[in-house]
Amino acid sequence: MPVTASITPAAGRSGRTGGELPDKPREECGIFGVYAPGREVAAMTYYGLYALQHRGQESAGIAVADGRQVNLYKGMGLVAEVFSRERLQQLTGHLAIGHVRYSTTGASQPLNAQPLVFRYARGMLGLAHNGNITNVAELRERLTATGSVFQSTTDSEVIVNLIARYGSSSLEEAVVKCMIDIKGAYSLLLITADRLLAVRDPYGFRPLCLGELPQGGYVLASESCALDTVGARKLRDVQPGEIISIDQNGLSCQTVLSPRRRAHCIFEYIYFARPDSEIDGFNVNQVRRALGRQLAREYRVQADLVIPVPDSGTAAARGFAEESGIPFEEGLMKNRYIGRTFIQPTQDLRDLAVRLKLNPVREVLQGKSVIMIDDSLVRGTTSRKIVGMLRDCGVREVHFLLSSPPVVKSCYYGIDTSDESELLAASQPVEEIRRIIGADGLYYLSQEGMLEVFGEYRHNLCTACFDGSYPVEIPAGSGKKAKYSLE
Ligand code: SF4
Repeated sequence: MPVTASITPAAGRSGRTGGELPDKPREECGIFGVYAPGREVAAMTYYGLYALQHRGQESAGIAVADGRQVNLYKGMGLVAEVFSRERLQQLTGHLAIGHVRYSTTGASQPLNAQPLVFRYARGMLGLAHNGNITNVAELRERLTATGSVFQSTTDSEVIVNLIARYGSSSLEEAVVKCMIDIKGAYSLLLITADRLLAVRDPYGFRPLCLGELPQGGYVLASESCALDTVGARKLRDVQPGEIISIDQNGLSCQTVLSPRRRAHCIFEYIYFARPDSEIDGFNVNQVRRALGRQLAREYRVQADLVIPVPDSGTAAARGFAEESGIPFEEGLMKNRYIGRTFIQPTQDLRDLAVRLKLNPVREVLQGKSVIMIDDSLVRGTTSRKIVGMLRDCGVREVHFLLSSPPVVKSCYYGIDTSDESELLAASQPVEEIRRIIGADGLYYLSQEGMLEVFGEYRHNLCTACFDGSYPVEIPAGSGKKAKYSLE
């Protein structure tokens, strides 16, 4: 039976093109899956992806199965740009997976959009992947040498090829064999004509959680905020090394690979995940607030006000204000209606773009000394502009505090932190960064202070972008990020 694989034309520009590089690390993907006979699973997946839109804005896709076949629709752009009501109504069935993407391996192009749907020895299979496979170049070479062909430039297609290769085994066995071959970070959702599978890598780099619908049925999502959106109750996080299978016989789970250690991405808590999500036992907002309180304990900076860089620094700024007793104010207003499609061809327009996103409240700030709080500093370009805006509106002193340590290493596990050469803190001492940004003071949360917030759970976290201790071997010779490409 045919795969209805439709690719829409590009609906907007990717954040990567047309302007300077982003000043924040970027999450690659969000995934969502649902098994709910009798419900509109395509519409539920649409809402789930909407809740995960912050995890990827370049493409979106939904694959729906009805017991006989898997139908797919995907395209470039935001969820609301790719899917219309009519399009969703055409995707009928009782189970579905969906994906939003921002690329790190593989270019931003329609062929790389997910889910990927293919036919193998046991029928049709769809895949949605969040993460990065670190030994992808080696696997791709091996597969190509023995006859595999690739349509896209993503590491996800390597996973698909491996599962197809092991196709004579049961699907679970094929997935386990694939898991033994691949290294790195992967949270996966797989869909057949009548089954939904969830898989999390043995380190648990990227989040994945399981929920239950009140009328019956199950939901899986990168973050619990997506479960809330469709009215599901979170049951638990998918465990590292675990496979969960859902079909007409109900839910079954098995841990197939035992990890040597867990390595949940600490940056999910610091910046990526939505504050209302709960990941591996921690509410993201509460973690950010605690990081802000810790920052206040480490630095007794005197100032009139604490202001956040919205929204990324808001929770930490509130925590800092609570601990320090310095009043919290919203000194910068964020324009919430700005899209990701702003074209910034010249320096003048790029400066304007920052003003379009953030505007200082002169009445609050004029003549004051302020503590400005953000979650992290990667390239420093936006921070410098914000400090400049504050000075322009009469701020007396700007002390810039970060609720995480300096980012000095690239990520190879599913986050685009830029090449190491682009990370300001990788090459510059704190005093030089302060000078570049133009602040009166620059203070980073210590690594020990950051980990203290997590108590004993600290041993279950990946902190490689702060300290270079990579839990899984990274590709050889990676001064720069190892991206393979067919282009
Ligand atoms: Fe997260 Fe950094 Fe580890 Fe990547 S290297 S998984 S961004 S903590």
